[in-house]
Parts: sequence; structure tokens; C-alpha cells
Amino acid sequence: MVDLRSDTVTRPTAGMREAMATAEVGDDVYGEDPTVTALEAEVAALFGHEAALFAPTGSMANQIALQLLVPPGDELLCDADAHVVTYEIGAAAAYGGISSRTWPAVGADLDPDVVAQLVRPDGYFAVPTRAIAVEQTHNRGGGGVIPLGVLRRLRGVADEHGLALHCDGARIWHAHVADGVPLAEYGALFDTLSVCLSKGLGAPVGSLVVGSAERIARARVVRKRMGGGMRQVGVLAAAGRYALAHHVARLAADHAKAARLAEAIAPFGVLAGPVRTNIVPLDLTKHPLDARRFAAAARERGVLVSVLGPNTARLVTHLDVADPDIDRATQSLTQTLRA
Ligand SMILES: *Cc1c(COP(=O)(O)O)cnc(C)c1O
Repeated sequence: MVDLRSDTVTRPTAGMREAMATAEVGDDVYGEDPTVTALEAEVAALFGHEAALFAPTGSMANQIALQLLVPPGDELLCDADAHVVTYEIGAAAAYGGISSRTWPAVGADLDPDVVAQLVRPDGYFAVPTRAIAVEQTHNRGGGGVIPLGVLRRLRGVADEHGLALHCDGARIWHAHVADGVPLAEYGALFDTLSVCLSKGLGAPVGSLVVGSAERIARARVVRKRMGGGMRQVGVLAAAGRYALAHHVARLAADHAKAARLAEAIAPFGVLAGPVRTNIVPLDLTKHPLDARRFAAAARERGVLVSVLGPNTARLVTHLDVADPDIDRATQSLTQTLRA
């Protein structure tokens, strides 16, 4: 099987396992795990921020950040397709008492003027807006990359209204590689970022919240409250450090593999949009197969794909699919679409 469901399906490489096996560890709840401390310092520096905090998942990293930025009852603005309001099971409301309001799903085609019009002022009658969250790259937006200039304008909107800006950067590495924007340039635009080590980077577990020293000190408390304080977790931080050293630049190869897949299936009229990174979004509305039947037929031919909606599906390339796998997948998928 060629597994193109997600870039989360990767398994740790031999080198990564070696790094994990030999990691120096301590009790991180006491702040005594040197590998975790090193990873946190390294990621903070990459984004030009003062501090970072290791978290077990990207969802927890996002939710910690949102709780830092938005008091209970107040409002977060984000895209209707954002991970924070789609795939985190209502956590912002359940744990943070946060009221989320969305702009219509546009993926990476973000318009800061539309966002500005949604902002509600502090006041006695209205829900006050406190923060804006964006996703880079945009998962349900087909791996799209929001251009740096657009993010700068959004920062302007946030500043004008006194709002905080959060980046769900689960795949910010992909944006960095695709657009060549230094991570610190992204870092400079956001009050908080969450970044994942277990998506394209191939670590088994791990995300970080990035921000100011003051915010990350509070983040440590919020993480503990959510049950996310971990002990000898340097074995996982070591996987993350290995991933940062070895698996960032190679994302370009994953992007090239996605582009090859997209080119092969483009003639069938099922591409939902341009392919910028490692995600190939499919829209089967005009195809005889709906998404479920397409996925079942592709599985028969040895390819696993994700179903996102009745007529939407996606293919994701990653560390564990090599070029020959892509050759097999393009053959199987073109046969599936032709049938
Ligand atoms: C995967 C993902 C997350 C975090 O997911 P976890 O499974 O909780 O680690 C957050 N944001 C985006 C955009 C994602 O794709």
C-alpha cells in the first residue's frame, strides 16, 4: 500500500531512533530534561522568539496558545475551515470558554480587509474580539501558503485593533521551504505560533508553542492544567531535534512528489486548486465517483487516500513515500479515475 492519507503516518527513521535511544533525559515537570530544554531553546531561536514549550500534540499547542490570548467569553476570529474550529472537537469552547467566529473558508486566499470588517470593539453589548488565528500552510485549504505580504497586512489589522495574532503553523516548515521565507520572518509577525514535529518532519510525537518568555511561562501552567506535563520526555524531544536537523530541507522533495501526482491526475479535472506544498486537494464533483467510492477503488489498487467530504478527498506526500511509490500511485490513481 502507498499511504497518501496524511503526513502523520511516517515512522521514525533509523537515525531518529538512534537519537531517541541515546537522548539525555530528566524530569521535565521539574524542568530537568536537558533535551527538552535544548529543543525549546532551538525552536524559539528559529522563530526569533524568547521561548517555546514542548507539547504532546498540535491540538494542545494551539489550545494552550488560544487560552493565553483570549479570556473566557471573548472572541477568536479564524477561517471556517481552520483546524482549531474543525478538528479540535470544540476544545477552545470546552477548555478556554472561547467564543470562535469565522470568516468564510478561503484557505490561503486570505483577505485582511474581510477580517478587519469582522472585528468587534470592546464594549458592553458585543463579544469583544481578542485574537485572530491563521493557518500556515492551510490544511483544508489544500496545503496553500499565505503570502508574506498578506500576513504583514493582517498584522497591521491586528495592531490597528489591539488584537493578538496566532499562527497554527503545524506545517509552517512547508511554507518556509515553498516560499523561501525565513522562519524568523514568520515569527516576527505572530504573538504565538504552534509548530508540529510529527507532520512533514517525521517525528512520532510533538509540537511546540512559541512566544514571549512571559507568555510561555503562563503556557507551562496551562499545559500542566490540561494534563500535558510530561516527565522523561527527552526521548521524544530528541526525535524532534533530529527532525529539525535532517528533515526540513528535504520537504522540497515531498512538494515535488505532490506536484508530480497533481500533474498526472490533472487531465481528469479533479484538482481542487493549485498544489503548492505536499497536499493534493481533490474535488470529485464532476467525476462519476464520489469521494468514498474513489477512496475504496484507490485502495483496491494499492493507494490509501483521505476522504474529507462527500466529493472532496486529498493526497499527502511525506517522508515514507519514495519516488517509486509515487510512480505506482500515479498509475493506480489514473486507472481509478479512468475506470
Ligand atoms: C495536524 C494539525 C494540527 C495538530 O494536530 P494533532 O493531531 O493534534 O497533533 C494542528 N493544525 C493543523 C493545521 C494540522 O494539520
